[in-house]
Amino acid sequence: MNNNFKYLYNKIKPNIKINNKIFGKDTIVIAGPCTIHDEESLLKIALNLKKLGVDILRGGAFKPRKDPYSFQGLEEKGLDILINVKKLTGLPIITEITSLKFLEKYINDVDIIQVGSKNMYNYELLKALGKTNKPILLKRSMSATYEDWLLASEYILKEGNTNVILCERGIRTFEKDTRFTLDIQAIPFIKNHSKLPIIVDPSHASGHSYMIKPMTLAALIAGADGVMIEVDDLDKAVCDLEQTVSINELKEILKDIKKI
Ligand code: PEP
Ligand code: MN
Repeated sequence: MNNNFKYLYNKIKPNIKINNKIFGKDTIVIAGPCTIHDEESLLKIALNLKKLGVDILRGGAFKPRKDPYSFQGLEEKGLDILINVKKLTGLPIITEITSLKFLEKYINDVDIIQVGSKNMYNYELLKALGKTNKPILLKRSMSATYEDWLLASEYILKEGNTNVILCERGIRTFEKDTRFTLDIQAIPFIKNHSKLPIIVDPSHASGHSYMIKPMTLAALIAGADGVMIEVDDLDKAVCDLEQTVSINELKEILKDIKKI
């Protein structure tokens, strides 16, 4: 792939500032449960994350799951809980909104809208997000090339929204013992071929909680602008438990991040 300067991802440097931290300049830590399950436990987690200095709270409400019979998230009720926890803690929030029909209702209250890996190719959604001025976290689809991914970002940028952050979340390889394979090379590639900030999601990439710390550190050393980590009360988490870390484990990870 050549550095083609006709594309906006090559020309525009996003200016995304959340709680005095700038994407692309500061190391951003996003953490929270895979899926929101109840308000009491989300509030407890969020207060702990705030104490640890986490920048942004994550929590899924619309969960695009592979298996249609698995838990699909609390949907609107989940978003209401997340927004309430934002009000109670002051933590900015990120969540995935999969359908255009909910975009308008929630856009003002959500600080960053996530486009999940399964929706990276949902061009109608990308175009609609491009017409807003919200920061968008565009996750890489599990089989997307760098070019596919950057061109997906272009769908948002082209509509006028220049606030795009990329997220490497693991790609599909032949390896069966990890959920996906974290593509560390994506970080220098994206830095070299675009002006967009890039963060890494070691949770969905590896699928194993014991890998979160080494993969976080590797990503940051490779130049990632931040990480997004699944953290929850391990007795209550309803999905992705194997890759979820506890608050105490996160505390140890954060100590090591500070050393970099
Ligand atoms: C998520 O971050 O909630 C998620 C579902 O991840 P992905 O889209 O990368 O699978
Ligand atoms: Mn998850």
